[in-house]
Amino acid sequence: MSTVIVWFRRDLRLADNPALTEAARRHERVVALYVHAPGEEGEWAPGAASRWWLHHSLEALDASLARQGGRLEILRGRSIDGLRAAIEATGAAAVYFNRLYEPKAIERDKSVRRALEGDGIEVKSFNAALWVEPWDVATKQDEPYRVFTPFWRNARTRIDEIEVLPEPPLRLPQERYLRDGPLEVADLGLLPKRDWARGFAGWTPGEKGAHELLALFADDAVGHYVEGRDLPARHGTSRLSPHLHWGEISPAQVAAGLRSHAARRPKAADIEPYLRQLGWREFAHHLLYHFPRTPKENFNPKFDAFHWAKPDAHALRRWKKGHTGIPIVDAGMRELWATGWMHNRVRMLVASLLTKNLRQHWVLGEKWFWDTLVDADLANNAMGWQWVAGSGADAAPYFRIFNPVAQSEKFDPEGAYIRRWVPELAKAPGRLVHAPWEDETFLESSGYPPPIVDLKASRDSALMAYQSMRGGR
Ligand code: FAD
Repeated sequence: MSTVIVWFRRDLRLADNPALTEAARRHERVVALYVHAPGEEGEWAPGAASRWWLHHSLEALDASLARQGGRLEILRGRSIDGLRAAIEATGAAAVYFNRLYEPKAIERDKSVRRALEGDGIEVKSFNAALWVEPWDVATKQDEPYRVFTPFWRNARTRIDEIEVLPEPPLRLPQERYLRDGPLEVADLGLLPKRDWARGFAGWTPGEKGAHELLALFADDAVGHYVEGRDLPARHGTSRLSPHLHWGEISPAQVAAGLRSHAARRPKAADIEPYLRQLGWREFAHHLLYHFPRTPKENFNPKFDAFHWAKPDAHALRRWKKGHTGIPIVDAGMRELWATGWMHNRVRMLVASLLTKNLRQHWVLGEKWFWDTLVDADLANNAMGWQWVAGSGADAAPYFRIFNPVAQSEKFDPEGAYIRRWVPELAKAPGRLVHAPWEDETFLESSGYPPPIVDLKASRDSALMAYQSMRGGR
């Protein structure tokens, strides 16, 4: 009887999982294996919020496999050791997995492939995460794209034909094969020791949770996405980012789900603006693959000469805790801490305050997001931070510095988002919810801190620093 191991990583789903489907098609028995090896991801091993998600997502995958009469085998240690142990225990002749695109993962996967092929094992890898893999699209000069719009114009022509695979029927072994150390999810110690994750209860990690969220979004918000996506007080976006990151749902499934919903409606929503946003995720992976140093180094080398302010631990602490005294920024940082997620518009504003008004290096913010976001994703996070800092591919021009008060008035006009996350300002009258320092008596009575910086003066000095970089001084 031929046995194959499907090595699960960030493809934690049964449907539209090409490695699993091919395994089920070509082999009689499928062993589902997860090897916990965070050390192999170096400094970008999953952060605390991601570990919380991973715990629940592995449990959900195990439950889905149980429906088909099997289970998820879990090991800890080096990936190659785990795979070899599983091969020895099960007599498997093949290992199938879905590809990842982070530099460390690529390096690891190459060496695992070499080692297993050296052992005489058949190794096959598949694309489960992207519409277009980073090497599938190139400019006319055969170079990687550095600008989003032409990238998307090219990528967009390829996505409609992509087939979505149903969940395959699996023949999973019922006996426990791994004698030495098969683990339960709880043995991995992924959950926090101190329970700071109570506010994460709104999430349902796993494949089923992803499809429920998609259905909710398809029912209503997708039809108002263009206006709704910028309003943080509303559920105007899909919130699928952690599910996409962990591969609980694929972009092809998302697009197919939205299309089939739209087909059942008298007036179909235009899903193009939403697909385009998913295109940014594809672009981020394209960039990370071709420019693997961008999680730590400026994409635009001119920024190597930029004068960042000295690292300011006190300011950084206030920013992390949501005590900067700038309401929209604090609302975002508190939403992040409480729920593991922050609205995209607000991500831009908090990143702008840190990198421009406080002139702290973007990597400091990137690292905090890495630890606290349930959707922390090396490609999207690095691109997001460099985009706001001005040092990235196709970035916002540096001199366009967000005014957090004007942004707050525009995108949270009633201050509903601020009032929800900053209780000190819940009863702030009118405009004061956006700029409470304009009334000293109110500010004092509210218990809310004064602003960490003068927005105008700090903006001017950021612009001066930028000018001096451009002048090469
Ligand atoms: P929707 O609006 O519903 O969009 C659908 C999907 O498209 C998202 O789930 C996401 O996968 C993708 N997407 C949307 N906007 C972007 C974008 N600007 N860049 C890349 N992909 C996008 N996203 C992450 O997934 N992980 C991160 O670590 C991350 N860090 C960020 C850091 C900064 C400083 C900024 C400005 C943005 C960051 N983003 C990150 C992008 C974006 O904020 C989130 O993807 C989005 O807020 C997720 O919410 P949603 O699923 O409701 O998005």
